[in-house]
Amino acid sequence: MKSIDKLTEGFKNFRDGRFEKERATYETLVDEGQRPEVALIACADSRVDPAKLLQADPGDLFIVRNVANLVPPYERDGKFHGTSAALEFSVQHLEVKHLIVLGHAHCGGIMSMFAKPADGVETDGTHFVAPWMSLVKSAFLRVQGTMPDATDEEKARVCEKSAVMVSLENLMTFPDIQERVADGRLRLHGWYIDIRSCTLQIFDPVQQKFDPVE
Ligand SMILES: [Zn+2]
Repeated sequence: MKSIDKLTEGFKNFRDGRFEKERATYETLVDEGQRPEVALIACADSRVDPAKLLQADPGDLFIVRNVANLVPPYERDGKFHGTSAALEFSVQHLEVKHLIVLGHAHCGGIMSMFAKPADGVETDGTHFVAPWMSLVKSAFLRVQGTMPDATDEEKARVCEKSAVMVSLENLMTFPDIQERVADGRLRLHGWYIDIRSCTLQIFDPVQQKFDPVE
């Protein structure tokens, strides 16, 4: 129970510390509602908590987290689209001004593609990761084809960034997002963080490459 106790103690420390000091801010956030200007799609990875890494405050970020920070294409099939639902809420209801796809190095989701057969067939009793990761199969196949002599780790770093680019493309398949990007109400961003080297790189859509933030 140690890991659970750490969390309940953490909550008590928050309640008696930061919350006490910033009570008015939290009350305003509830009374007036949230008004984040930025929505962010991040990985579920325990090491890349966007609010902590970006030093964001409560109310700053509307965060969607899933395996490998992927955005699926726009699909109206009556199925359960958690990421698309969150995106729709952030864009149509919250009217965020920025959407960031936050990729990261050493992503387990991306690495899982290198550990599995390339056709995505699961043989270990899992059912959901491989079909989900097939969203970026094109990125995986590209690195396999263009970097035949590279290690899986090297390929994964490239694949992680390519996956961010695929997600940015998929965002533009949503009519509400496409419309807002076209008229300037919304901007899309691709970011990539490496917590080992503590670097942030930002995707330049004109040059089609990631540039480090100094
Ligand atoms: Zn990840």
